[in-house]
Amino acid sequence: MKLDILSIGDELLIGQTLNTNAHWLSQQLNKIGFEIRQHTTVSDEKAHILTALNDALENVDVVLITGGLGPTKDDLTLEVLNEYFGGKLVMNQQVYEDVERLIGGRGFEMNELNKQQALVPNNARVLRNKNGTAPGTWFEKNGTVVVSMPGVPYEMKAMTTNTVIPWLLEKFKLPFIVHQMVYTQGIPESTLAQQLVHWENELPKSIKLAYLPSPGRVKLRLSTTGNDRAALNIAIEEQIEKIKKIIPQYIYSFEEEALERILGEKLKQQKATLSTAESCTGGYIAHLITSVQGASDYFEGSVISYSNAVKINQLHVNVDDIEKYGAVSQQVVEQMAEGVRKKMNTTYAIATSGIAGPTGGTEEKPVGTVWIAIASEKGVVSKKYVFGKERDINIERTAVAALGMLNLEMS
Ligand code: AMP
Ligand code: MG
Repeated sequence: MKLDILSIGDELLIGQTLNTNAHWLSQQLNKIGFEIRQHTTVSDEKAHILTALNDALENVDVVLITGGLGPTKDDLTLEVLNEYFGGKLVMNQQVYEDVERLIGGRGFEMNELNKQQALVPNNARVLRNKNGTAPGTWFEKNGTVVVSMPGVPYEMKAMTTNTVIPWLLEKFKLPFIVHQMVYTQGIPESTLAQQLVHWENELPKSIKLAYLPSPGRVKLRLSTTGNDRAALNIAIEEQIEKIKKIIPQYIYSFEEEALERILGEKLKQQKATLSTAESCTGGYIAHLITSVQGASDYFEGSVISYSNAVKINQLHVNVDDIEKYGAVSQQVVEQMAEGVRKKMNTTYAIATSGIAGPTGGTEEKPVGTVWIAIASEKGVVSKKYVFGKERDINIERTAVAALGMLNLEMS
């Protein structure tokens, strides 16, 4: 079953309001088995609304519209829909009472505009709005359902959950949709795709694969749909087993879960502790780690060793090595990790040293060059990365890479 989401409102098009309705509705409707064909956003203009509506009615089973239902002149949706479906606006007593109760509850008298909100098309089912004055409407034409809801997110959400979804479930027999995520870290999208090419080519036609990259991470999504839920789960599980064998070192989770939380659990299980010595990340890794509740069980602290003096005096990095190799070097980052591990007496230590940018790069060490080290009782491992030119993204990627290295070191 296909579904379109039509968002109406000038404020969405000028970038004043973020279209959170389409985002939320997609999540909810996909969860119950609809294939979302298209998001369309149009201005509060009759011709635009009609064009979008015609297109949707030709292509989908359900159209969910939000916005343009206010009582003022700029809100046209109901008028357009009424005309489109050839209905007549009539006073609906129940809606009138709902509006009266709401307006009265706010300490106001009903005015003409409020009263007008109780006018609904006589060929639509009414969706009551407990949180606002504009009711929703449900039209049907040639088997296609067109639902119109207010734009105000909490009004729309309550209406969707309480009425629209139950009614849709009554009307349509929907398939199951299974999405399985695979969270990877430490491998660029293109390299990942190369490693997975054979597996991807062998995927059954019924399973769709998507790559969703963000700084330092790539999410993979496997999706399938059908009527037998158990069979779908088995089909996905088979693929998960295969992918686990191909890229075990890069997968850190199968659920939406931050790496710092997963590490926290591991540290607790191992009864291990952690410290950080951060130069280019300036404490950001410590911030991520301490944003997890209960981090005090395993996190000792951090030395934000931004200057050479702090690296030397607090972490006992060798002065000559800084001179000889520079602060952004394998020698220095390894000494930083060892230094903080010793100072704080922890099982593990993370150290970072890099050129976050946008300035400060050289030919030999361009902006984005980062060294990361992990110290443990086994010794120190370190790795050089060359990220991009954007400071914020470099810091984010360094943190993700460092947490990923620790994850590998701990497994
Ligand atoms: P309306 O139903 O057009 O009167 O919209 C009322 C309010 O809801 C607007 O002022 C927006 O702040 C909000 N709104 C409308 N459409 C959306 C949307 N698609 N996503 C998030 N907020 C919205
Ligand atoms: Mg509007």
